[in-house]
Amino acid sequence: MRVVQVAGAKGPLELVERQIPEPGPGSVRVKVQACGICHSDSVTKEGIWPGIQFPRVPGHEVAGTIDALGSGVAGWRAGQRAGVGWHGGHCGYCDSCRRGDFVTCQIAPQIPGITYDGGYAEYMVAPAAALALIPDGLSAVDAAPLMCAGVTTFNSLRHSGARPGDTVAVLGVGGLGHMGIQFAARMGFRTVAIARGADKEALARKLGAQHYIDSQAKDAAAELTKMGGARVILATVTNGKAMSAVVGGLGVDGRLIVVGAPAEPLEVPVPPLIFGRRSIMGWPSGTSIDSQDTLAFSVLTGVRAMTEVLPLERAAEGYERMMSGKARFRVVLTMG
Ligand SMILES: [Zn+2]
Ligand SMILES: [Zn+2]
Repeated sequence: MRVVQVAGAKGPLELVERQIPEPGPGSVRVKVQACGICHSDSVTKEGIWPGIQFPRVPGHEVAGTIDALGSGVAGWRAGQRAGVGWHGGHCGYCDSCRRGDFVTCQIAPQIPGITYDGGYAEYMVAPAAALALIPDGLSAVDAAPLMCAGVTTFNSLRHSGARPGDTVAVLGVGGLGHMGIQFAARMGFRTVAIARGADKEALARKLGAQHYIDSQAKDAAAELTKMGGARVILATVTNGKAMSAVVGGLGVDGRLIVVGAPAEPLEVPVPPLIFGRRSIMGWPSGTSIDSQDTLAFSVLTGVRAMTEVLPLERAAEGYERMMSGKARFRVVLTMG
């Protein structure tokens, strides 16, 4: 089979031939049809995940069909369409797992493309616990980005505490943000998009935002306060200053939910947190059933990622487009 691997930290994405892997006990082999390129793939490319082993095949936005089952796999059969996302398995015995909170597994979190080979490949092997059923009505190219960018925004919003009609702002109209706007609007929130400049307003409104704030022209926090304050601000950017700047737009009990990962720390004044019970929290994607819910909700409501599609052999080019911010908005590799 053909795979695109990274041979060592900071090495290039290179196309190589490998043996097709056999699924071990509890695992399945997936014939990959599409795999999204995610900003987090840089963890593999740059070798910054503690203990990462090379060579490694990146990719945790996988969509394909189940091709072979290892021993002891129940509930799945060959030929079913399935996706694999960031949550690629868990230990089953740590305190988090014993509480059923698999996504925060403390002992052996398994992440495709980081702790085992991922989806920049014609075939991959994953634990059955990592599989999400892909519904009819969703192509592999459409399903792939929902397995990380999709589930992260969908799952954080549905657990945000916001209720229909509440004001929910999405900071950033990019790879995560353009999904977040769609989900927020379809969940029945009064959806506000915030981005720099006026050029993204038309798109944000097309995606479902009822309001748009150009954060270069206006003080986004003040604008949100004029609207009564946001119940939730979903922060999808990778800019700590931009995140810090909107916290003042939270209403009473408002939450800044951080899903983008800036390098610099947040700096926020504390009294508004105390006196208005405002809070700042992060959110880590979701488990395979959360991904499956994301796929089903997307079919139900018409949510789709905007994608640029490239064949597997052009993975390096796709990765550059994604990292440079030029991609509109997710790059998806297809295996042909
Ligand atoms: Zn990702
Ligand atoms: Zn665990």
